[in-house]
Amino acid sequence: CGVFGVYAPEEDVANLAYFGLFALQHRGQESAGIATLQGDRLQIYKHMGLVSQVFNEGILADLQGDIAVGHTRYSTTGSSHVGNAQPVIVETRLGSLALAHNGNLVNVTELREALLDKNHNLLTTTDSELIALAMGDAVDSGGDWVQGAISAFKRCQGAFSLVIGTPQGILGTRDPQGIRPLVIGVLNGDSDSLPTRYVLASETCALDIIGATYVRSVKPGELVWITDSGITSLQWADQVLPKLCVFEMIYFSRPDSCYEGESLYSYRQRLGQVLAKDSPAEADLVMGVPDSGIPAAIGFSKVSGIPYGEGLIKNRYVGRTFIQPNQHMREVGIRMKLNPLRDVLIGKRVVVIDDSIVRGTTSRKLVQALRDAGATEVHMRISSPPVTHPCFYGIDTDNQDQLVAATRSIEAIRQHIGVDSLGYLSVESMVNTTLNEPEHFCTACFTGDYPVPVPDSMKRSKLM
Ligand code: 5GP
Ligand code: SF4
Ligand code: MG
Repeated sequence: CGVFGVYAPEEDVANLAYFGLFALQHRGQESAGIATLQGDRLQIYKHMGLVSQVFNEGILADLQGDIAVGHTRYSTTGSSHVGNAQPVIVETRLGSLALAHNGNLVNVTELREALLDKNHNLLTTTDSELIALAMGDAVDSGGDWVQGAISAFKRCQGAFSLVIGTPQGILGTRDPQGIRPLVIGVLNGDSDSLPTRYVLASETCALDIIGATYVRSVKPGELVWITDSGITSLQWADQVLPKLCVFEMIYFSRPDSCYEGESLYSYRQRLGQVLAKDSPAEADLVMGVPDSGIPAAIGFSKVSGIPYGEGLIKNRYVGRTFIQPNQHMREVGIRMKLNPLRDVLIGKRVVVIDDSIVRGTTSRKLVQALRDAGATEVHMRISSPPVTHPCFYGIDTDNQDQLVAATRSIEAIRQHIGVDSLGYLSVESMVNTTLNEPEHFCTACFTGDYPVPVPDSMKRSKLM
């Protein structure tokens, strides 16, 4: 999912949120929502569909306030329907809160039971509603917004990057591992006449689009509280162990976003360079699978000396195939999405670079299409390791039995996909290629080494 928040009484906050969500569209395409707050008055509009389909000028004009909180959703816990769209609203003793969540909790069962015991009506099937209710509960038992938030966060295990709007200001946090990203930006930072205003967003690309300047990431286990007097920060987690999702770096985040000062475009290009050294191929042309494989393909071409070219054209108007939540749509999605360029491919030995193979569905169809278009040899190189384990922290890499690499050797995958040769990057190369600390990443879907323990009941639902 994508989350966004802004506190800026003199700006059109709904419009800022709209553009922020527009830049975060790749993080979730099922539903979009914006809540605005002005003192005690809360307004919300959320619906199924893309940001551009959900909102129009009239709807945005009706959303007035000093604060806006926005969300783009793709479902991991809770099904795909409008009742589960976010922000989630909860009424408290101190007024309404609007919560937008990215990530996935692993102690949902426990949390749900505790809240049901307190006679809460659960309106949705999402873990995000549970966080909002836990916070409402704590506020109603006498805490202020910050105390209420901290007591709720301490009850949560798993991945949560949150933006929470209240009548007083917006709160932002990341779980103690910082599995999902969240960044702070500033509006009017270099103006003498305009007040400095703060923005929170899943990725820096959402700051760029509204002309906000990147300040820093919210730290794992940190709470930031943004009000009329600026920003304050405190550390609520007793133990912090940074484990940013490495899949954000490799695939999920936009290449024009940065983490901890590192450009994801450059990181992905360097992955391609390392891949060319670790797993060379003899061919006439290097091409990337659009769009996510392209930076690595450029890197591969640089180091191998094999010319880079475009062998596939992507229909820009089709969403991410894997984000469509069922297999049939995924298969239709692939056929709608990529078209091979016959005159580029004919008679050529090609190296095809992709960022990942998850189920193998895309790759298999793609390879057949490239051969049909005249490629004489197809060598596939993947700029990440084999995905062998499911994610419980908010990326829908599917159940283990759907993962092509869970049970197959690389040679068996090669045959399954139908390529002449297949090479992956190692886990070491993947983490050592970032400019950040290699230990500061979650790599569980490649290693099975889950940084936040997953309860057996939950494991059983996804593991073979
Ligand atoms: P596959 O061959 O596994 O069907 O698809 C691999 C391609 O689709 C890659 O280009 C990758 O960008 C994208 N992809 C498909 N499914 C997923 C998924 O569940 N997670 C991620 N991260 N990427 C996926
Ligand atoms: Fe990211 Fe994989 Fe860890 Fe999930 S298991 S958080 S996809 S690295
Ligand atoms: Mg891709």
